[in-house]
Amino acid sequence: MPNVKITLDGVQYEVDQKKTIIEAARENKVHIPHFCWHDKLSAAGNCRVCLVEVEKMPKLAIACMTQVADGMVVNTKNERVINAREAVLEFILINHPLDCPICDEAGECKLQDYAYKYSKGFSRFVENKVHKPKRVEVGPHVMLDAERCIMCSRCIRFCDEIAGEHQLQFVQRGDRVELTTFPGEALDNQYSMNVVDICPVGALTNKDFRFKSRVWEMSFTDSICHGCARGCNVEIGVRNNEILRLHPRKNDDVNSVWMCDHGRLDTWKSVNAENRIKSPMIRKEGQLVEVGWDEAIAKVASELKSFGKNEIAVLGSAFATNEDNYVFAKFAKEVLGTKNIDFARHLKGENDTVLIRADKTPNAVGAEIVGVHPSESGLSFEKIIAGIKEGKIKAVYALECDFASLPGVEEVLTKLEFLAVHATNENMTTKYADVVFAASTYAEKNGTMTNFQYRVQRIRPAVTTLEQDRALDNFEMSRWDKFASHNDKWGKGPRRDARPSWKIVASIAGVMGTKYKFNNADDVFNEICQKIEGFKGLSFLKVGKKGAALKQTTFAV
Ligand code: SF4
Ligand code: SF4
Repeated sequence: MPNVKITLDGVQYEVDQKKTIIEAARENKVHIPHFCWHDKLSAAGNCRVCLVEVEKMPKLAIACMTQVADGMVVNTKNERVINAREAVLEFILINHPLDCPICDEAGECKLQDYAYKYSKGFSRFVENKVHKPKRVEVGPHVMLDAERCIMCSRCIRFCDEIAGEHQLQFVQRGDRVELTTFPGEALDNQYSMNVVDICPVGALTNKDFRFKSRVWEMSFTDSICHGCARGCNVEIGVRNNEILRLHPRKNDDVNSVWMCDHGRLDTWKSVNAENRIKSPMIRKEGQLVEVGWDEAIAKVASELKSFGKNEIAVLGSAFATNEDNYVFAKFAKEVLGTKNIDFARHLKGENDTVLIRADKTPNAVGAEIVGVHPSESGLSFEKIIAGIKEGKIKAVYALECDFASLPGVEEVLTKLEFLAVHATNENMTTKYADVVFAASTYAEKNGTMTNFQYRVQRIRPAVTTLEQDRALDNFEMSRWDKFASHNDKWGKGPRRDARPSWKIVASIAGVMGTKYKFNNADDVFNEICQKIEGFKGLSFLKVGKKGAALKQTTFAV
């Protein structure tokens, strides 16, 4: 692209001539305040808070709609600009209810931030404010407070341009303008809750999260959504060791700045759920009974030893991490000697054109690449199920996957002589299990997943388990540091006696006579990077916040 030279606040920059002033400034870390402009939407130019002075132009110009030109000299903070900005903010605040103390957006509100930073700090308006509806259900997941709306139109443009459904509109004029849905319509597209993120004020709020917590009481951990093979980048918001919300994290290679409503609402509630597996369990006299880890590990080791290698099948999981699946596949080959290894696919619907994938698992590609696939004469998932039916497969050891919920599986499980599973929550498969290990959820462990684009991405613990707490207690720390890390990071909420799957498998291997020298998920990932082509040269550090692409051609999958 041909470049032009512009001067911003006295500093010269070379920028792409197609950029607007706000884009050029942003690229060069010069902040121009804005409400209606959003880098993923078309420009509307209606809030006027981005006014700047361009030399030789008689009037102030809006930075979001003024294209740069060679030799352009722009002032973003001289007296004239500051006066105009203060006037715009005063104007926007005239009818704003100023109910920050009860507003969910407080703490992450653009209007609140700009009012502190750029306004005069007082109002000359003594007349009555215009009142509008305060609690409108504009859709199944979103509430509107019309008084807080500053008419930026971001939400309207999101529905039109990203979700592809024209569901929101302004009605009326002047200070009576109001956001609404079309009569009889609702804001119910599959991506509707993104409007909450991009609304610069607290006009649109998440019905699921409303009034649950002030944002400054929460910790936020970078992770990925595990609702489908996209692996949208998210932040997990936690208070008192309980997840309260997910929201999208920017990654232009994966999800831009969006996520779907299903991912935002449904994928994490199992972490807080009552039906979590709270500790290992063994079936005694027909009932699953809670036992210690050593007893459950010894039981599985001795049971697996009692079957011939062709009588055993192992099922990895497209819900578990690369590390879990890698250690599991290694165990199957090196310790059990079975070739019957695969995992269950979970396909539903079709890929859409925004983000949603038909593959409802986060790591099918990763599970396969790190070794969870039948080798040579080994049995695939379907053949394993047929083998159980025929009585050839007598024992199954399975990672985190409710494979009994798939068609035609539940009825054959009673034929098994032994079933051991790792599970985060009670499910149809645990009903048939002889041993259940309490597995850490994706929000309680470190690791990586590989999405459908062959992109390796990190997950990190957002909530803590008993095991992590104990490790923290044994760690050399001052009492104050311990207090601070327990309470600030995780708080005093519930803990589960769960462990990452790779660690449970490694413990069973140890009891069966094969010691794996993995102390943490990094160690496992480092071995994957040494042993598996395509991962070579990677590390947790290199995968970082945004992930790293694998070379697809490296894999015969
Ligand atoms: S509801 Fe929010 S995003 Fe929509 S127009 Fe109003 S202020 Fe803008
Ligand atoms: S598109 Fe998939 S990964 Fe992204 S938020 Fe939705 S379910 Fe989660």
